[in-house]
Amino acid sequence: MTSPVPPAPTPDPGLPQADGSEAPLSLTLLQEKAERYQVMFSTASEGILVHSLDGKALEVNEAFARMHGYTQAEMLAMNLRELNVPGGFRTHPERIARILAGEALTFEVEHVHKDGHTIAMEVLVSLVSGGDMPVLLAFHRDISQRRQDEAEKAELQAQLLHAQKMESLGSLAGGVAHDMNNVLGAILGLASIHMETQPPGSPVYRAFGTIIQASERGGTMLKSLLRFARQSPAECLELNLNALIHEEVRLLERTTLSRVRLVRELTPDLRPMLGDANALSHAIMNLCVNAVDAMPENGTLTLRTRNLGTDWVEVEVEDTGTGMPKEVLAKALDPFFTTKEVGKGTGLGLSIVYSTVKSHQGQMQLKSEPGQGTRISLRFPACHAAAPLPAQPESGAEPTTRRPLRVLLVDDDELVQSSVQMMLQALGHEVAVSTSGEEALGWLVDRAAPDLVILDLNMPGLSGANTLVRLRAQHPKLPVLLSTGRADQVALDLAEAHPHVSLLPKPFTMKVLRQQLGQFQVG
Ligand code: ADP
Ligand code: MG
Repeated sequence: MTSPVPPAPTPDPGLPQADGSEAPLSLTLLQEKAERYQVMFSTASEGILVHSLDGKALEVNEAFARMHGYTQAEMLAMNLRELNVPGGFRTHPERIARILAGEALTFEVEHVHKDGHTIAMEVLVSLVSGGDMPVLLAFHRDISQRRQDEAEKAELQAQLLHAQKMESLGSLAGGVAHDMNNVLGAILGLASIHMETQPPGSPVYRAFGTIIQASERGGTMLKSLLRFARQSPAECLELNLNALIHEEVRLLERTTLSRVRLVRELTPDLRPMLGDANALSHAIMNLCVNAVDAMPENGTLTLRTRNLGTDWVEVEVEDTGTGMPKEVLAKALDPFFTTKEVGKGTGLGLSIVYSTVKSHQGQMQLKSEPGQGTRISLRFPACHAAAPLPAQPESGAEPTTRRPLRVLLVDDDELVQSSVQMMLQALGHEVAVSTSGEEALGWLVDRAAPDLVILDLNMPGLSGANTLVRLRAQHPKLPVLLSTGRADQVALDLAEAHPHVSLLPKPFTMKVLRQQLGQFQVG
């Protein structure tokens, strides 16, 4: 069987044939072909360049010239090496050798546009003709936008990663703080009950005093841990950064400043801001300590404040110290990152500064180069009107008459149950204990309402918040003390939203408990 012979392909005019000969061409066909190539060359969206090895442009198309901001004539007159980023030009002998051997190579380069900005490009280069004067053909595609998109994506990913890290550290810190608060609450509670039974000045009295002090110090540490975890709101008062800096300077002058020159450039009419003075002082102090650490011999520490337009205020801490290499700068905000020797650095300084700035809706910027010192700027929203002070219920004057109370204590933690129960009993009150929200609600259905409920906010099962809502449905006016280790927004909102509800921050002493209960004992 014979298969049908396919028709011989019409030879492409001008293309070499299998036998090495060229198909015959008429002059018109040749002209048409040349014109077709000319149109392709000049209308191509990619920049096409034909050049010699020494950088002389032999032909450039319109797109290539436009990409660089020149005319085609200008480009043909210049040496292409002028397009290279200053100092960035390198010959790549290995690359050139491969191209001359006939390989087509793709790589990325950076060129300088006529107006000075840098263009990132992807280039495909191949050999047109070899010999003594090789000629190369290069296709250029502008990838500046793609690069920028990639950089933005990488930046976002880094931010996300940082946020996730802070988040998990935050929940870890929050969890530890919650449990530690209960432990400290029990120690503090029992120590304060028994201290009162001892003659003042006796060794046992003093020992209890020390236990109380130690637990209170632990409580303060937990508060800063929670602040770091951003689970505790910044106190929100109107303040002036200049005033904070004056305080800092007094401290610094007394400690480290013999070898460091201190310069203050404070804008006198600096706008006030809303925030937590303690946390902000702590942040500025952290920056100053780092600055002083970076200037072991001597140097200048500059503290600067300024208004940025009408909406922002800025504080800047600048030193003339060692500065940071890129790798250090990239990690400086990470919790536990330190370059200092063991015992000197914790690596928490800048990460706490960062979370303080974030909790104040601010921004933070670090500029640093090795040998050039470091400048860190913190920006915060300025406030315009004088802000109202947050209403802090002050315990009023001592009540004249006191009556014992019937208290329902709702807490899932055994340590809290027994210590608070003992404290309440020592104060002469009658206590019933429920170990969960569900149990407390059941208890309230079956019995006459107590005078007061002390309700833990963080409980498994029915949470304190949900218990409160149901309890309110049964007893609209029953006073409730919400006891919580984190005075977070949830707790504040609950206290705000419900009448007859106030906060009892954990851990607390007998004294605090007595004061808090005083308001319910009148009459
Ligand atoms: P720590 O001070 O405990 O090391 P920080 O979070 O405050 O932790 O700082 C992290 C790291 O950032 C430091 O170990 C140091 O390498 C670098 N750093 C911070 N501030 C400066 C500064 N002003 N100059 C030079 N390096 C700094
Ligand atoms: Mg530090």
